Amino acid sequence: MSKLYADNKIFHFSDKLGDIAAGRVTAPVHVRLKPTNRCQHKCHYCCYRNSHLFLNERFNEADEIPTDKMREITADLVSTGVRAVTLSGGGEPLCYPGIEETIRVLTDGGVKLAVLTNGGLLKDDIAGLLAGRATWVRVSMDAADAESYARTRSVPVGEFGEVCDNIRAFTGMAGRKSVLGINFIITKDNSGDVLSFLEMAKGLGVDHVKVSNAIVSTEPSENTDYMAGFFDDVKRQIREADERLTDDTFAVIDKFHSDAESLVRDYDCCPMAQFLTVIAADQNLYTCQDKAYTTSGLLGSIKDSSFAGLWGSDALQARLKELNPSKECRHHCVAHGKNLSLHSYLEADQEHLDFV
Ligand code: SF4
Ligand code: SF4
Repeated sequence: MSKLYADNKIFHFSDKLGDIAAGRVTAPVHVRLKPTNRCQHKCHYCCYRNSHLFLNERFNEADEIPTDKMREITADLVSTGVRAVTLSGGGEPLCYPGIEETIRVLTDGGVKLAVLTNGGLLKDDIAGLLAGRATWVRVSMDAADAESYARTRSVPVGEFGEVCDNIRAFTGMAGRKSVLGINFIITKDNSGDVLSFLEMAKGLGVDHVKVSNAIVSTEPSENTDYMAGFFDDVKRQIREADERLTDDTFAVIDKFHSDAESLVRDYDCCPMAQFLTVIAADQNLYTCQDKAYTTSGLLGSIKDSSFAGLWGSDALQARLKELNPSKECRHHCVAHGKNLSLHSYLEADQEHLDFV
C-alpha cells in the first residue's frame, strides 16, 4: 500500500534538487498558506494562542489576508509553478471570506490543494467544493465525546456533534475525490479514549486517523515527561486499534512518539526552506511552519510586493543563505529529518557517486 505520510517525498523532485545544488532560485514545491488568524475554536493547546508554548511573537489574531491581495497571491502561486498548497492556521482557513475563490483559482490553475481544518465549517458548498477538488482534507480533533470536546476547545457542547455530522456527510458524498483524515491529538485528558475514538472515526467513514502528540512545551524533554504517565497505554490502544480496525477502507497512522527530539542542528543552512515556505495571514513570508509568526523566521513582507517578486529577490535569498539552523533553530523543527537527508544528498562527492 502506498504511504500518504512517506518521509522522503523530496527525492521525487530531481529538478528542484538540481536547482538547489546549483544555487538556482526556483519556486518552492509546496506553500503553506494561512489566509486568516481568526478561529471559532479556542483550543487550550493551540500553539499560536499560547505564548508560553511556541515562538509566535508576531502572531495577531486579527490578521487576515485582504481578498484582493489573495487574488494576487494565488495567481502568483499558479504562474510560478508551485505544485501544492496547504491551507492552514494561524486560524481556521474555512473562516476566510475569500476561501471559495481561493480554492477555485488554485485548483483551476493545476495546483494541488490540501486543507487543515477544525471541521466546524466543513459543510454546505465549501464541503462539496473540497470533496471534488482537494487532494486531502484533515480535521483536527482531540476528544471522543461532546463534553470533553467542548471543554478542550471552549465551544458549545453541540459543536462536537456538528463536526461529526460534517465529517459523515463529507465521507458519504457521491463522487468524493478528496481523502479525508482526522488528526487525533493526544493530551493527558483524552489518553484513555484513543481506542474508542478510533472506533468512532471509522464509523464516520474517514480514510485514516493520524494519532499525534499535543506539544505542551518548547523544551522536548518536558513533552516526554508530560507523556510518561500514559505513553505505554496509548501505544497499546493504537496497536489494538490497528489490529482490529485497519482494512482497505481505514488506516491508523501512528505518529505518537515519546523520544525527546535532539535540538542539535548540525548544519548551517536549511535546504528545506527552498522546498516549502509559509505565506501567513500578516502578509509575511516565513521559512517554515515552526517559525511562522517569529522574527527569526521572517523572510520579508508581501504587503507592498508580490510573492513572486519577493521570492526571487536577492534580499530574500540572502536571508535564506544566512539563516543558520545550528544557531537559530534550536527548537522543534518538523523538517529536521528531511534536512539531514538533503544535506547528505547535497554533500555527496560527485566523483564517487557511481560507487553506490
Ligand atoms: S482549531 Fe486550530 S487554530 Fe483554532 S484554536 Fe484550535 S488549534 Fe488553534
Ligand atoms: S526550523 Fe527547521 S525548517 Fe524551519 S528554518 Fe529552521 S531548520 Fe529550516
